Amino acid sequence: MNKMKWIGWPIFILFVIFLTSSFIFELPLEKTTSHTKKPKLATALTVGNEILQDFPNVTIHFEREKAVDREIYLEQPIFQKEATNDQITSWIKEKQSKHYHEISLESKKISNNFYQFLLTAKRGSDEDVLPFIVDMEKEDIKPLEDFFTLSDSFMDYLLSFLEKNLNIDQQTLKQRIIPLEKRMWIIKDNTFLLYLKDGKNEENFEIPDFVEIPLEDLLPYATKDFIKKNELLSQTLKKEEKKQLEKKRKKEKKKILKKEEGKQKKIAFTFDDGPHPKVTLNILKTLRNYDAKATFFMLGSEAKKYPEIVKQIAAEGHELANHSQNHPDFTKMDSKSIEEQILETQKIIEQISGLETSLIRPPYGSVNDQVLSVANNSGISIILWSVDSLDWKSRNANAVYHTVMNNVKEGSIILMHDLYPSTAEALPRLLNVLKDQGYAFVTVSELLEEINAEGIGPHRGI
Ligand code: ZN
Repeated sequence: MNKMKWIGWPIFILFVIFLTSSFIFELPLEKTTSHTKKPKLATALTVGNEILQDFPNVTIHFEREKAVDREIYLEQPIFQKEATNDQITSWIKEKQSKHYHEISLESKKISNNFYQFLLTAKRGSDEDVLPFIVDMEKEDIKPLEDFFTLSDSFMDYLLSFLEKNLNIDQQTLKQRIIPLEKRMWIIKDNTFLLYLKDGKNEENFEIPDFVEIPLEDLLPYATKDFIKKNELLSQTLKKEEKKQLEKKRKKEKKKILKKEEGKQKKIAFTFDDGPHPKVTLNILKTLRNYDAKATFFMLGSEAKKYPEIVKQIAAEGHELANHSQNHPDFTKMDSKSIEEQILETQKIIEQISGLETSLIRPPYGSVNDQVLSVANNSGISIILWSVDSLDWKSRNANAVYHTVMNNVKEGSIILMHDLYPSTAEALPRLLNVLKDQGYAFVTVSELLEEINAEGIGPHRGI
């Protein structure tokens, strides 16, 4: 094996040198020969090759032929890959057969791997172009879908761009210059150039040769690969991602703020034994002033007397609740009578307000197993309280204020009565100070939700 290698290497190297040299010298020679073979009255022929910047495997071939009556000029990129050359050559041949005497080439590196080429064929004032992009690693002419996802949304974007910039309606656009993906295009100086004319649809139809769309506007449709390889798009993406991140952060911040806002200390004021033709109206006015909501545990008998006040309580967003028909002690009654007290009041409130109440506060807060069982069967929650304002005892606004302030905390259910003028008098001061301390005044139902109190109760608040 050693011996074989020893002999094999020099031969191999010689072979490589032979191949390389034949390639280097063959290519331009062949071109020159084929050109001189043409039966033309050539007076002068200039032929040359330049190496494409950064890609020594690709040459730019040019030839200038001065004939008696005209000058023929050709510039063409020559790749190692024959299939790629064939594609380009066939376009050039077609143009030359139609007497385009000048074919010039512009080339530009658009990213590490991609080069853009633009062949322009001229015939007098006529011009035709062949733009194409080449993946320099594989020497393939790249189709549009390598750069952009040819999704409906991309097409829609292009259509609306054309509609806006050409002032042509989509219907006409669709009929005349669709399918867009079959149009010629090129990426030039961070601009996506879409060529619109194809020689078939120009009749009576004023359209420009091409439209220019800023590349960064096409970021949402660019393929990952293209973004990675294109500096502008990668930068735009980074900026975009940064913006998104910033947006997300702001959103999160807002969420946290909102959460903190939502964490306002909620308490529920409750008023029993009404409605009262004066005191209840006074209380309603104060609640309105402080944007406070409360719960009114009303007696069926009083509700029946003052239906307009019941309606007003409901209309102003407060909660209507049951406090029995005429204030008996439920623990001293049989089930049937308790049920009657509850249902009769439910019926009255519903008839007046159209609202079904779901809360009951048994008079005196008197509850036993029997009361619980009746409430359970009626599907109504028993609500007691955690702060007794003792307004029924003191009948003094100052005393009411201090009793409440000394006991209130987040989650409190506060017992008051819309019967005593002193209670109505204490309320504005209470709401004013408690509001400053960050309390929000909600209905019992809302508070129960907040403190996750479930079932029939009795619920007392916190
Ligand atoms: Zn009561």
